[in-house]
Amino acid sequence: MTSMAIQARGLRKSYGDQTVLDGIDLTVAEGTVFALLGPNGAGKTTAVKILSTLVTADAGELRVGGHDLAAEPQAVRAAIGVTGQFSAVDGLITGEENMLLMADLHHLPKAEGRRVAGELLERFDLTDAAKKPASTYSGGMKRRLDIAMTLVGNPRIIFLDEPTTGLDPRARHGMWQIIRELVTGGVTVFLTTQYLEEADQLADRIAVLNNGRIAAEGTADELKRQIPGGHVRLRFSDPVAYGRAAGTLRDSTRDDDALALRLASDGSQRELRAILGRLDTAGIEADELTVHTPDLDDVFFALTGTTTDAAKETVR
Ligand code: ADP
Repeated sequence: MTSMAIQARGLRKSYGDQTVLDGIDLTVAEGTVFALLGPNGAGKTTAVKILSTLVTADAGELRVGGHDLAAEPQAVRAAIGVTGQFSAVDGLITGEENMLLMADLHHLPKAEGRRVAGELLERFDLTDAAKKPASTYSGGMKRRLDIAMTLVGNPRIIFLDEPTTGLDPRARHGMWQIIRELVTGGVTVFLTTQYLEEADQLADRIAVLNNGRIAAEGTADELKRQIPGGHVRLRFSDPVAYGRAAGTLRDSTRDDDALALRLASDGSQRELRAILGRLDTAGIEADELTVHTPDLDDVFFALTGTTTDAAKETVR
């Protein structure tokens, strides 16, 4: 059985009369990437702050790294690392000094601290900038330094709160690569994002947070299958076969120029088998069959009725 890195049941949090999290359930398996996706103000940061012991929940059974959050917050803190909007980077000192400070906080002996700091600065391509004040770093470099600082404590679970918000595409792809490498190393990543593409690229499972509730949860493919709009496209090279197929599959939409037929379908094995069965019965063979599932933007829109600015950005 896979062990769970994070388990939340009935997680609730209100600020005054505003309910931010209205009893949400989350489960994250060890060694996976989980993306909490939602528009600005959905409650993503609040969820991260609660799960990382920075803010207390009003209600909920919460376990992180095998420890109960309410009973053993210290044990949870020892197992996790947090980076994001509330970055720990001190701009007045150099990248290297920031790293050595973290090593001190984790009580590493001096020589060991210098070794670990050097290795991590190297790994995150910060060696050349190590002696410069962190305030002179680009947004991408600051995020990399932030993650490097988190890794000094060797956490098994890392919370990344909107790790690529505000980064240019190159820095964003660099961050994605870092996240993939973390997971390859066995770390569990809990990520929040407004970017649908980011969740699609990185996450094993995605939960869509909207109005304080989880509007949908699953793999990117499962989410895409939940909403209508998927279709199967059959392409033919022989016009005669195309004409016969169009006659057989009367519920299809024709594209006579491309000799292609389009049928509404959820792309499931059952529906594909049915379509192919009808063609087989008529003795027709298609040259190409492609399944088109709607993308996450469609899902997000269907679930929340909104497109975030970030979502629009990824569509462009
Ligand atoms: P997200 O990370 O998805 O953008 P947040 O968790 O930051 O969302 O915020 C969710 C809602 O909770 C927002 O409406 C925000 O104004 C409110 N909120 C967050 N923190 C506080 C706080 N300390 N006091 C009052 N309201 C807060």
